Amino acid sequence: MAASLTPKTKDKWSLGSLTKTTIVPDELASDIRAEQLLTVGRLTVVIMLANLINTFVVLMSFWNTGASQLLAIWSMVMCVASGVMLVVHILGRRRFERSQAERVEVKQEQIEAYARNACFLGMLWAMLPIITIPFVDSTGQLVVTTIMMGMLFGGALLISRIPEAAFAFIAPITIGCIVGLQMEQDPRNDFLAVLTLVYSSVLWVAVRWSHTQFVDQHISAAAVAEQTQLISLLMRDFEESTSDWLWQTNVEGVVVDIPTNSRVEDDYNRMSVGAPLLDFFVAGEARQVLKTALSRKQPFRDLVIRVDVDAGEEVKWWSITGKPIFADGAFSGFRGVLTDVTQSKKIEDRVAYMAHYDALTGLPNRVTLQEHLVRMTQEPPEGGRHRVLIWLDLDNFKWVNDTLGHPAGDELLRQVATRITQVSQPKDVIARLGGDEFALIVDRASRDETVDYVKALSDKLGRPYEIWGSTAHCGASIGVRDIDTHGVDIQVLLKHADLALYQAKSMGKGTWCFFTQDLDDRARARRAIEIDLHKALEQDELRLHFQPLISAQTREVVAVETLIRWQHPERGLIMPIDFIEHAEDSGLITRLGDWVIRAALDQARRMPDHVRIAVNISPLQIHSSSLVTTILNALATNGIAANRLELEITESVLMTDTQFTLERLKQLKDIGMRIALDDFGTGFSSLSYLRKFPFDKIKIDKSFIQDLEYEEDSRAITRATLTLAKALGMRCTAEGVETESQSEFLTENGCDELQGYLISRPQPLDKLGHLLSLTPLADLPPKSRINQNTSEPASHQVVDFKGIRRAI
Ligand code: C2E
Ligand code: CA
Ligand code: CA
Repeated sequence: MAASLTPKTKDKWSLGSLTKTTIVPDELASDIRAEQLLTVGRLTVVIMLANLINTFVVLMSFWNTGASQLLAIWSMVMCVASGVMLVVHILGRRRFERSQAERVEVKQEQIEAYARNACFLGMLWAMLPIITIPFVDSTGQLVVTTIMMGMLFGGALLISRIPEAAFAFIAPITIGCIVGLQMEQDPRNDFLAVLTLVYSSVLWVAVRWSHTQFVDQHISAAAVAEQTQLISLLMRDFEESTSDWLWQTNVEGVVVDIPTNSRVEDDYNRMSVGAPLLDFFVAGEARQVLKTALSRKQPFRDLVIRVDVDAGEEVKWWSITGKPIFADGAFSGFRGVLTDVTQSKKIEDRVAYMAHYDALTGLPNRVTLQEHLVRMTQEPPEGGRHRVLIWLDLDNFKWVNDTLGHPAGDELLRQVATRITQVSQPKDVIARLGGDEFALIVDRASRDETVDYVKALSDKLGRPYEIWGSTAHCGASIGVRDIDTHGVDIQVLLKHADLALYQAKSMGKGTWCFFTQDLDDRARARRAIEIDLHKALEQDELRLHFQPLISAQTREVVAVETLIRWQHPERGLIMPIDFIEHAEDSGLITRLGDWVIRAALDQARRMPDHVRIAVNISPLQIHSSSLVTTILNALATNGIAANRLELEITESVLMTDTQFTLERLKQLKDIGMRIALDDFGTGFSSLSYLRKFPFDKIKIDKSFIQDLEYEEDSRAITRATLTLAKALGMRCTAEGVETESQSEFLTENGCDELQGYLISRPQPLDKLGHLLSLTPLADLPPKSRINQNTSEPASHQVVDFKGIRRAI
C-alpha cells in the first residue's frame, strides 16, 4: 500500500507542467489540496493587508503626478477587490474548516478559483507600471519597479503553496513590468525588463521546487501514517486473538510502557511497567540464558522460564522472545513478545512424566531405569561400594489376577511397590518394568550387605498380602547382577539379571540367585542347540531308538517305547535330556513330536501286530492343534490300528488347563489309543489325577525301582502303587529294571510289564531282531497312498476308524 504513495515526478516539459509539477496519487490529491488551501488561507489576511498597504503607498507616492486620475481608479478597484476577497475569505473559512473536519473532498476547481483570484490581483498590479511609468521621473520609475519586485516576490512567496495561483500572479506582473518599462525610450529599461524576466523565472523555479518538496513530504507522511495504522491494527488483532503480549525495556532493562499496547496493563497486568525484566523470572538455567542475552545485547528466542509471580501454589511459565533495539545506532533497550505457556508446559511435563514413570505404582519405568543404568555404568560407586542390578518378578501374579480379578492384581502390584520401597534406602532406584516385573539398582557397603538386603527383600515380598479381605501368597523370584563400570553394555547387564532371575525361578519359588558366568554359558549353549535343532529337523539328524517292554508273566515283548536321539554331526549322539527342554522352550517341540509320531509308526510296520508302540508326548504337544491329525494320518498311512499306539504323558500335563487337557486325552482315548501316566511317583503325584482320568496304564518311575533293593520306602511305595493301579483297573509298568531281584520283586507284587536295561537298552530297531521278529524291509507291504505331508487325512482313509470324525 505504501508503495502506491511513492511520488512520481513528471520529466517532460510542457505548458501544463509549468503549473503541475508533481503527480499526486489520486487518493491523496484531495488531502493535498486541502493542505494547500489551508496554508494559503492562513496567509490570506496578511496578503490582503499587504495589498492594501502597498496600494496606499503607491497612491501617496504618485498622487501629484499626471497619473493621479488613473491611479485613483486603480486604487479603488484594488481596495474593493481586496476587501471583497478578504470578506469572502473570512466568511468561507469557517465553512471550509468544517467541511475538512468531515473530510469532504476538495476539488481541483477550488484551487483554480484561488488561482483565478490571484490572477486578477496579479493583473491589477500589472496595470501599475503601465499607468505610472509614462508620467513619472526616473526616481518614480525606480519606486514603481521596487514596489513591483516586492509584490512579485512577496506575493508569490505567500501563495507559493498553490503553484497554480503563484504562476497566475507572477505571469501578469512580469508582463506588466516589461510592458511598462518599454513605454519609456531608455535603453537601460531593456536591461531591467530582461532582469525582470530572469527574476520571475527564478521565482517560478523556486515555487516549483518548494511545491515538489511539499508534495513529497505529504506523501511520505501519509505512508508513515498508513503503516502506523496498519501496525496498530495488527497489534490490536494480535493482542486480542492470542495469549501473547508485547513488552519493551529501556537501556537499563526495566520494562517500559508500549503506547500501542494498552492491554498489557488493562487486561493482564502481569508485567507491570517499571520493574526490571529479569525480576519477573525465577532463578535457573533459562533465566541465566536470558540474563546473558540481555547483557550482551543479543536476540533470544522462545526461552521458557518459570515466572516469579504471586499466584498462590500455582506455577507459571512464560515463553519469551526478544531482540535489542537501536535508535540511530545507539542501543535503546529490548523489545519482544511474551506468551503464557503454563498450560502447554503442564501437558509437556505430564507427558514427560508418563514417559518416565509407571502410572500404576508411581515408580520410575523401564526408560528411567535404563537412563540410570547408562549413568551408573560410567561412574564407579563411591568408595568401592557394591552396586547391583536386581530383577524380580512375582511368582503367583497370574493366579491373583485370574482368581481375584485385575483390580486386585493392580492393588497387589501397588503393595509390592510399597514393600520394596519400605525395605530399600531412599537413594536406591526402584522401577517397575511392566506386568509383575520390577528392577532395582542398589549399592551397599559390601557384597555381604547386598546379600542381606536381597534376603530381606525376598522375605518381605514373600509375606502374605491382604487384598480387600482376601489373602494372597505371592512371593518373588529375584535375579541379581553386579554392575561393573568398565565398558559394559547395559543390554548385557539386563540380560544377565534376567538369566539370574530365570535361574532363581527354576530353583523354586521365592528364591534369589546371583548371576554367574556359568549361567550365561549355559544360556548360550541353549541358544546354540535351539539353532542347531532347526537344522536337525531339516537335515534328518534325528534318530529313534526303541526299548522293549516285556510281560512280567510271559516274558514276551508286548510293547516298545520310542526314545528320540540326535545324531549331531560334530557332537555325536545327543540324549533327549539335553535337548527336549530346549525344543519345548523354543516351540520346536510340536514339529519334533510330529516327526517322532510319523517315524515311530513308520517303523512299527516291521513289528508284529501284537506289539504296541509307546510314544512320549510333551505337555505342549497336547495343546497343539496338529496332534490329532498327525496321529490319524500316521496310523492311516502305515496301516497301524489305533489300539497299538500308547501315548505316555507325565503328570505335569494335568497341572495346567486341566479341563482342556482332560478333554483332549478323552478324544484320543475315544479314537482307540491307550494313555499311560509316565514317571508316576515323581513331581506332584496327586492321586486325584488318577480319579479324574481313566489312564490305561501307570509307569512307576525308575527312581523307585532302582532303590527297591535298599529302601523299604521304595518297596512300600511300589507295592502301594501296584495295589492302587489294580484297584482302579489300570495296568502297571515298572521302568528302569536293571536287576533280576528287581524283576522278581515286581513280578511277585503283580506288576504287569517290565522295562529296563535288564531286558534291553534302547536300540535302533534293527538291533532288536533277537527280541522281536521284524519284517524285513523288502517284505513290507506298500505304504498307503495317503499324502504324508498333508495334515488332514484323506476322507476315504478315515473310515477305517469308527467314530473318529465324531471324536475330532
Ligand atoms: P522316560 O520317558 O522316562 O524314558 C525312560 C528313560 O529311562 C530313557 O531315557 C531310557 O533310556 C532310560 N532307561 C530305560 N531303562 C533304564 C534303566 O534300566 N536304567 C536307567 N538308568 N535308565 C533307563 P532317555 O532315552 O534318555 O530319555 C529320557 C527322557 O526323554 C524320557 O524319559 C522322556 O521323558 C524324554 N523323551 C525321550 N524321547 C522322547 C520323545 O520322543 N518325545 C518326548 N516328548 N520326550 C522324549
Ligand atoms: Ca516314557
Ligand atoms: Ca519314565
